[in-house]
Amino acid sequence: MLEFTDVHVRYGHVEALRGVSLRVERGEIVALLGNNGAGKSTTLCAASALVPVASGTITLDGEPLPGKPWHVVRGGLVHVPEGRRVFSTLTVLENLQLGGFTHPDKAEVARRVDGVFDLLPLLAKRRAQQGGTLSGGEQQLVAIGRALVAAPRVLMLDEPSMGLAPLMVAAVLDLVRKINAEGTTVLLVEQNARAALGITHRGYVLENGVVTLSGPASVLAEDPRVVEAYLGA
Ligand code: ATP
Repeated sequence: MLEFTDVHVRYGHVEALRGVSLRVERGEIVALLGNNGAGKSTTLCAASALVPVASGTITLDGEPLPGKPWHVVRGGLVHVPEGRRVFSTLTVLENLQLGGFTHPDKAEVARRVDGVFDLLPLLAKRRAQQGGTLSGGEQQLVAIGRALVAAPRVLMLDEPSMGLAPLMVAAVLDLVRKINAEGTTVLLVEQNARAALGITHRGYVLENGVVTLSGPASVLAEDPRVVEAYLGA
């Protein structure tokens, strides 16, 4: 469904991606693992047209992705960036409504927002609260909820559990599993490899801009290289 073929991305002289090929099939959750600076965020940003691709191709359902971020969203590929970026002076409701900014039918956007409130009753209770006053975990839920309002076919999540307390990490990953179970394909970047491999079908390991390992999550979780580098022996 989402496929990267030999993708190169450069930031000036830094070659952040050096020929990345990976694919996410319809209905899967795929983990992208790797240390700081491996190129995980760059991989997601390349698909969202937030950074230019120097060479290689990225396709969604066999079609090259458009060159403008809002066209990518409209095409069904939605990215929840690292750091959440909830608008702190807007309410929860307003933050969620922003997820529908590319959609012309405001009644449809309102229905989707209600759907997010059904899925996340905790946010419904806080609908009038300003984003900046929420806990980190609640802000992460808003960021994911906002992405859902765009009705993604493929959702890309960058480190959704970063900086969260263990209970909230579990809640966020549970939400990701639920979103997938309801039919959304997911590409998940996670530093928390153990948690990621616990909910994903397959995974890729990225090192210095190159995919060095890939396979079913259960196989990766047993691979001595993954155990040593990412799971703690
Ligand atoms: P992290 O988990 O720390 O975010 P990552 O695996 O997501 O790491 P990227 O953020 O994709 O890695 O970075 C890949 C490489 O590209 C790193 O060497 C990084 O320093 C470099 N890089 C990322 N963004 C820029 C930028 N805007 N300008 C220059 N170099 C950049």
